[in-house]
Amino acid sequence: MTAGDNDIEQAAVVLRDGGLVAFPTETVYGLGADAENPAAVGRIFQAKGRPPTHPLIVHLAGLEQLEDWVKEVPATAWQLAERFWPGPLTLVLQRGPRVPLEATGGLETVAIRVPDHPVALELLSAFGGGVAAPSANRFGSVSPTTAEHVRAELGDAVDFILDGGACQVGVESTIVDVVGDRPSVLRPGGVTREDLEEALGHHLDVPATSRVRVPGQHPSHYAPRAQVVLVEPDQVAAEADLARQSGRRVGVLLPASLAGPVDAYAVIAVPDSMPAYARGLYGFLRELDGRGCDLIIASLPVEQGLGLAIANRLRRAAGPR
Ligand code: AMP
Ligand code: MG
Repeated sequence: MTAGDNDIEQAAVVLRDGGLVAFPTETVYGLGADAENPAAVGRIFQAKGRPPTHPLIVHLAGLEQLEDWVKEVPATAWQLAERFWPGPLTLVLQRGPRVPLEATGGLETVAIRVPDHPVALELLSAFGGGVAAPSANRFGSVSPTTAEHVRAELGDAVDFILDGGACQVGVESTIVDVVGDRPSVLRPGGVTREDLEEALGHHLDVPATSRVRVPGQHPSHYAPRAQVVLVEPDQVAAEADLARQSGRRVGVLLPASLAGPVDAYAVIAVPDSMPAYARGLYGFLRELDGRGCDLIIASLPVEQGLGLAIANRLRRAAGPR
């Protein structure tokens, strides 16, 4: 299951040759290319069908490389990087000359993180440079949390797939902009707002989910094939019943605490624990698609801890297409 030394070496060679490597991280699988090679970076956009204005995240092997990739490192960036790297936190900083504009969607800022996964870290160390990577899925669709998801969705468009098992966090990194005077959260993710606030010692604003703050933050994203409809937790069963009667193939993400009789084509009881729910979320959406559901009924968890990131992804999965 887990990639061996030989696989890591081969994957590093693919990166050096300008190819694409899908690799596991603790959040989701990434689709990586040499961040300093504009042609290789261009292939990522092609493989994903992603508009070239949507910036990528540059992955590094360690905190000590940060200064090589940015113009300057503000005190807040050091503070957060030291506390949360390796980990599911991405920092947006001013772009250094090593970062081509192709990787930043033309922006003068660059998003950087050190992932917390042994295979990702071994790959980054073996390669030596930065690896630009978004999630390894077609643009707008559900992120992959296993190597099998990547194979099924991108297949031949990827030169090498490293298998590191199922991702432990399951939702993407938290993105924090540390360019201005006050850090701001651009996307909630694997590091919770509560943990960030504790590290910073002050309150943080998290933008409304629906607002398009930065490129790549479209209202519809993380979307399965099936239409997603969000209802109040106590309405899940009634809504599912109504939709089923009108002839829809209904899939339900049922909060475990409400588990009762629900008449639907497919029912997945989601875990009460937010880390467990986050780990399973994209797999659940893929499973309901795979079973042929045309409608998924779900409710939002309480927006605390990882519940904030889960609610963000569900809202956007339900967003206008
Ligand atoms: P993905 O996780 O596949 O959506 O890819 C990377 C994410 O990082 C996207 O949501 C981008 O919007 C975000 N991102 C990358 N670079 C920047 C940047 N310079 N400023 C703001 N967000 C960024
Ligand atoms: Mg993505």
